[in-house]
Amino acid sequence: MNIQAPAPLAAKDFKSEIKPVWCPGCGDYSVLSAITKALAELGLTKEKTAFVSGIGCSSRIPAYTSVYGFHGVHGRSLAIATGLKMARPDLTVIVAGGDGDGFSIGGNHFLHACRRNVNLTYIVMDNRVYGMTKGQASPTTESDWCESDLTPEGPGVTPVEPLKLALACGANYLARGFSGDPNGLSRLIVEGIKHPGFSLIQVLSPCVTYRPEQRDWKQAVHAGFDNPTSDPREAARILGDDDNFTLGILYAGSRPSFQVAKREVEATTDLTRGFRMMTGMNDKAEFLAHALAVEYEAAERYDELADSMMTHNNKEVADLFKQFAEFSRKHAAEVQARAGNIKVPRLAPWEFKWPGSEAPESGHVETTHYLMTPFHALTIALRNEVRGQEFYAQVAETSENEDVRKLAKEMADEEAEHVTTLKRWLPRFPKPATGWDEDHDGPSAAE
Ligand code: SF4
Repeated sequence: MNIQAPAPLAAKDFKSEIKPVWCPGCGDYSVLSAITKALAELGLTKEKTAFVSGIGCSSRIPAYTSVYGFHGVHGRSLAIATGLKMARPDLTVIVAGGDGDGFSIGGNHFLHACRRNVNLTYIVMDNRVYGMTKGQASPTTESDWCESDLTPEGPGVTPVEPLKLALACGANYLARGFSGDPNGLSRLIVEGIKHPGFSLIQVLSPCVTYRPEQRDWKQAVHAGFDNPTSDPREAARILGDDDNFTLGILYAGSRPSFQVAKREVEATTDLTRGFRMMTGMNDKAEFLAHALAVEYEAAERYDELADSMMTHNNKEVADLFKQFAEFSRKHAAEVQARAGNIKVPRLAPWEFKWPGSEAPESGHVETTHYLMTPFHALTIALRNEVRGQEFYAQVAETSENEDVRKLAKEMADEEAEHVTTLKRWLPRFPKPATGWDEDHDGPSAAE
């Protein structure tokens, strides 16, 4: 009998049937997307992967993934995960949570998890606030943040800096990502899971409800941790100049992990790739892979936006986003047909050569709001199509391959038609008056 190996799982296979109830625009949506992409990239299986969390908005993640999950009690995720890894060293154990759960209620466990250096990956969605309990200062909140009724003059204490704390306590891998760059984040998660010992990935993930100013983090983040060091003293020196917005892999140490595993995952040999910039696209198959990804990534993002709108009863906008997702899938099928017999390579998310951190036609999560109107949805779609057009036009201009230039020019022209169509649609939906986003009934994540 000829038994075939099961096909590797795709990112969508790692999402559960449960739709997230996070506020529209919350950074955690993109973190979930980065996580599922990383699991697919590593070729992990559901039965050999486990997610553990504590309490908080971001701690809902185990419910939204299809691997084994344990939604624990507040601050105890690392203790639970350590026990699980000791008992089942064959599992890939990932821990998710927020800054309050991890560094306040779970602060003690965090210190000792770093010190023990058990082979775990800890993804902390840091938004410098307690979101689920409606906006109190957390351990990473700036000392002068005055928006909470509990600390109207600011917490007045120095915030915890997670990477410094983890380095001092002996963590073996330190990285910082941003929810607005899910593909770059996906790479950090892949490398963190592959690296032996305790890995901390601090993710700047805006809470748009209680810290709306964090929507501006997109402008604040920057590359900088491009060449991971294995020397803790050098890592400490780099952190001395850090502004808490530097992204990438800072440190990949060689301290032996606590020996619970008979089979250690191989250490990565290539930690030096930085966030990639557009470097020219001269191969037709590679170009087609990008063209396909433009549409698939856009469809996935529109689906996520539609789900978040449905969760918050904004059906009109949800339906529009669903329609846009269908358009993107239709365009993907057209690209596939164009590829004909060409073998289109499968690219890892961080191998994309976009000029920015996200695929050109992927709507930015932080631009959404649960009270948004069709006008806003169409504006987002229009912006996406313009970016798609610019991307193809840039390839048409810079590629050294004539076939690629020709194809990119055709695609740029098609995107221009989409832009024209959307511009024709837009006047049908009047721009809402100022104050459309004021809700006197106050939003909250469902308990
Ligand atoms: Fe996200 Fe903040 Fe809403 Fe929680 S309260 S789901 S962290 S935006």
